Amino acid sequence: MTYPWPDGKRAAVCFTFDFDGESPYLWRSRDSHGQAVGELEQRRYGPNRGVSNLLSMLDNLKLTATAFIPGWIAHEYPDQVTSIAHQGHELALHGWCHEPPTHLPVDDLRRTLDRAADELAGISGTRPVGYRSPSWDMSVAVFPVLRSLGVTYDSSLMGDDRPYEVDGVVEVPVDWVTDDAPYYRYVAGDPRPPATVPEVRQGWRAEIAAAKKHGTLCMITVHPWLSGRPARVDALEELLAPVVEDTELWCPTAGEIAAHHTGGRKVSLAKLRRPFHD
Ligand SMILES: [Zn+2]
Repeated sequence: MTYPWPDGKRAAVCFTFDFDGESPYLWRSRDSHGQAVGELEQRRYGPNRGVSNLLSMLDNLKLTATAFIPGWIAHEYPDQVTSIAHQGHELALHGWCHEPPTHLPVDDLRRTLDRAADELAGISGTRPVGYRSPSWDMSVAVFPVLRSLGVTYDSSLMGDDRPYEVDGVVEVPVDWVTDDAPYYRYVAGDPRPPATVPEVRQGWRAEIAAAKKHGTLCMITVHPWLSGRPARVDALEELLAPVVEDTELWCPTAGEIAAHHTGGRKVSLAKLRRPFHD
């Protein structure tokens, strides 16, 4: 069945960026008290340079994005997050310090997301209605928490290539294939070098063409510390310029996709769970 995109559009291309900065590293290394600063600085390229490079690219294209931002990052880098909001991009939840939800008791999950929502609302003036789980780690416990916080959509699962619904929350699905991390994330000692710009641009061009042919959603996820580097941000602009111009493609924020979605496939929490227990 063809998904009913608005205004007769054939498919959707959604551009999102996860402004993680050093938060995933801080969470992962929370029990260590070492002196290492290499990966911290590598990740700080995001707030130092990557965010403004991405914002310039989006401004050139007149493209509006969704930024998923851990609360700690909003607290630590209010100027960068203010710039994102002032340019009209949607701010959405991404944990407090990028803690994966399966690692948190449900009360801590609710408390940290509520605090992060306050932090983002303090900058944008609006409480976020969207959530993306850190590292796309997900638990059935997240959905009732999202509903209790007035969050209407999640963007962390891959069960479809069109929007669907899980436990009353709209799922705006993602895909590792159009996430920059598997291609560009490289830290000392990794067994392979990062992918080159032409490789990623060519692969994602094919993903967008296929979305248009099949009437699906192409969800692009990038990170300022990775894709905010000059050659990579230029490649994104080159990739997206014809997409924005294509009248058959819809380029909404994740929030606009969720607001448009009605009906369609619904998944209960019982169906979402693994079908048997060990
Ligand atoms: Zn993240």
